[in-house]
Amino acid sequence: MVINCKEIAEKIITETKEKITELKNSGIYPKLAVVMVGDGDASKIYVRNKTEACKKAGIETEEYIYNENISQEELIRSIENLNSDPSITGILVQLPLPKHIDETEICKTISPSKDVDVFNPQNFGGFILGDKSLIPCTAYGIIKILEYKKISLSGKNCVVIGRSNIVGKPTALLLTNRDATVTLCHSKTKDLKDFCKNADIIVSATGVPKLITKDMVKSGAVVIDVGINRDENGKICGDVDFKNVEPICSYITPVPGGVGPVTVAMLTNNTADLAYFTLLNDKNIKRKF
Ligand code: NAP
Repeated sequence: MVINCKEIAEKIITETKEKITELKNSGIYPKLAVVMVGDGDASKIYVRNKTEACKKAGIETEEYIYNENISQEELIRSIENLNSDPSITGILVQLPLPKHIDETEICKTISPSKDVDVFNPQNFGGFILGDKSLIPCTAYGIIKILEYKKISLSGKNCVVIGRSNIVGKPTALLLTNRDATVTLCHSKTKDLKDFCKNADIIVSATGVPKLITKDMVKSGAVVIDVGINRDENGKICGDVDFKNVEPICSYITPVPGGVGPVTVAMLTNNTADLAYFTLLNDKNIKRKF
């Protein structure tokens, strides 16, 4: 069955809207700054989707789109300005950045109190150690999809393919924390097929079109396709050979219209939660969610 991720995303945005209304009633107006370097088509679409979702949730946004030749120092200065702007409650830097910019340095520059996708190492460390910090948007979105479909995780064999800090590693951690047995695979994994064949749940986040083929998937498995790629005809596709894999699995997420919209919905959720975390003490507000 193809999971209706757009419906899940809508539900999350509706819930966020309630949180935002509550915040506004307390005099807090969340505003997200979306920072993008370069004006590639794909990045533009991501930024547009994020802005639209925020609008639906009642979150104001400001876009900061820079030429791809921007220097690292200029980008850092721009983020520092956002850090000190009291009207901005959240900052999202669209990754990946051009090669001449050190992503780690940029992530370190985002103030932990405005870091909506857990890019700052201080927040990422807190997340790994299991404190009450935010959860990275895509990984959290994947968990929400599984929860929404009531797919149990305890004791399940899960294979996560891809070990990036923004998707693979946090997803593997969240699944482990929910009592799944997780194998984290990557480009050096030998016999990927053998690991996948044994999996109850496969999460693929590699950026390789059609990496996951029918012969790699156990009948009845759940397949979560995170990849956003272009096929040989330039059409958007995931990491999974959807046409042939879909008939044999119990659940599968489509691309486009799958993990992507849910990730964006989680961004609105994190923006609301961060505004609460940050301003809770200042205004002595009791948190209702
Ligand atoms: P990334 O940083 O480039 O990481 C890709 C990972 O895939 C790496 O760990 C790499 O292994 C592994 N990999 C590459 N080729 C492989 C192969 N043939 N077999 C097994 N593993 C392989 O990418 P990312 O940022 O995590 O993103 C991954 C994909 O998800 C991209 O298509 C991206 O556009 C998409 N994405 C989607 C969303 C969403 O909301 N839907 C959000 C973020 C990203 P090594 O570590 O060994 O190099």
